[in-house]
Amino acid sequence: MTDTRQMTLEQLEEAIYSCTLCPLHQGRTKAVPGEGPLSADVMFIGEGPGFHEDRQGRPFVGAAGKFLEELLASIGLTREQVYIANVVKCRPPGNRDPLPNELSACEPYLERQIQLIKPKVIVTLGRFSMGRYFPGASISKIHGQPKRVGNYLVIPMFHPAAALHQPKWRPLVEADFKKLPHYIAEAGHFGDDAPPPQAQQLSLF
Ligand code: SF4
Repeated sequence: MTDTRQMTLEQLEEAIYSCTLCPLHQGRTKAVPGEGPLSADVMFIGEGPGFHEDRQGRPFVGAAGKFLEELLASIGLTREQVYIANVVKCRPPGNRDPLPNELSACEPYLERQIQLIKPKVIVTLGRFSMGRYFPGASISKIHGQPKRVGNYLVIPMFHPAAALHQPKWRPLVEADFKKLPHYIAEAGHFGDDAPPPQAQQLSLF
């Protein structure tokens, strides 16, 4: 097992590019570690690479990526200012859901990315990243409602691809994004010695 705990972001990316820890490595063209600055205040966590992401080795580059960029622009941000990652770094065949063994094999990479970036706000995009922080929740009920989880303010949002497929969700996603600058300003960093996530799951707003 690769020990990610002491890795830098660059070492983490190298480990992901050559990772064979779960069967998803067999079908990938390129692994997609994620991208963005170490100093990002906001980290978006999606599900996994799709067709275009797998080809290019970059997260959110298809239609959903374009929509994400529009949403960021609506609040005065660019994708270069935020960190974008996924719960699995290699494309599941046919864009199927990632399996539990694949999610758990890939988890240490995401965990280390979060430790290194130390974002003020984590935005979950889609069911699987939402499930890390809001187990059993329904996105249609909790979208846009932040929760303090350990050191981070976590905000569940609809996945941009889902909003593209379901036009009724689009205004909800746009409204949730509009609240993001407020939450970034409110969030601030808690110290590294803050209680573990399970001990401090409070609704703030
Ligand atoms: Fe490794 Fe994650 Fe890719 Fe699986 S999905 S091979 S654990 S990088």
